[in-house]
Amino acid sequence: MAPGPAVLEVCRVSKNFEADGGMLGAAFFKRNRPVVQAVSDVSLTLDQTEVLGLVGESGCGKSTLGRIVSGLIPASAGAIKLDGTPHHTLTAAERRDWARNVQMIFQNPYASLNPRQTIRKIVEEPLKVHGIASADEVGAQADDLLEQVGLDPSFGTRLPHELSGGQCQRVGIARALAVNPRILVCDEAVSALDVSIQAQVLNLFADLRERRTVAYLFISHDLGVVERLSDRVAVMYLGRIVETAPKTDLFAAPKHPYTQALLDAVPRIGWRQSARTMISGERPSPLDPPSGCHFHPRCPRATERCRTETPQLRDVGDNQLVACHLYD
Ligand code: SF4
Repeated sequence: MAPGPAVLEVCRVSKNFEADGGMLGAAFFKRNRPVVQAVSDVSLTLDQTEVLGLVGESGCGKSTLGRIVSGLIPASAGAIKLDGTPHHTLTAAERRDWARNVQMIFQNPYASLNPRQTIRKIVEEPLKVHGIASADEVGAQADDLLEQVGLDPSFGTRLPHELSGGQCQRVGIARALAVNPRILVCDEAVSALDVSIQAQVLNLFADLRERRTVAYLFISHDLGVVERLSDRVAVMYLGRIVETAPKTDLFAAPKHPYTQALLDAVPRIGWRQSARTMISGERPSPLDPPSGCHFHPRCPRATERCRTETPQLRDVGDNQLVACHLYD
């Protein structure tokens, strides 16, 4: 399905967290607590029915950005807009509507389901809470949702612990779909699954986008997973977006040294391993990010300018945006 107009806009969003450093830290940092810059000045758009993959190492801020988009946590600065309306201007009732439209699917399928509820109750609950189905219809709609995610309705009588990880993730997807969301934020949604089950759940996501008008923000550290499903990919490093591009361009000709290093680190059949870049050194702490380009302590092509000046995302052609001084 071709992507439509932008349903979601992320406009210069930042998110800071105060670090307490535990009991000792709380006493020590009474006044000036250190601040973790989890997300820094991020702008993105997501079109109707588009799948935008968001990749980066653990701790780069991608899950925090997913939670901001879902309305679970507020941004420290900037705005997120659904159909052009900023989240921070909404009334409480409108925020509930936002929460219905932007559903999140989590990494751990067991932890995201109530262990005491049967599968049918879990899927029926959003239908009832949001008044989507009458008391007469709710059972049939729950069965239909289970079938849509590839589960026989007879699973409805079981409890989550009686299901495999893949089956639990399907229940989580059915529950999210129950409210007809516009956007699914999938946060490492297949990372906890075995490889064969991962493939099945990815196929399910691909099938669902053919059958429904839904966009995905697909967050993963796994480039193979992102390549499989995404139309476009955004690469995040230490809270900043460093490159966005259509999937085929990004995987064929990555521009940013960090993206190049990420791709070079993935063993791929038929992929010519280049001597281009290998990431060396530890990922810097978001409590004290490097000046200028955050990637400069690990970048083999860093210059003096990279240490002092923050590169801005710029269009380098073919809808590819890169934040690197090499492309000025
Ligand atoms: Fe490397 Fe400099 Fe580009 Fe950053 S701006 S990725 S340090 S070359």
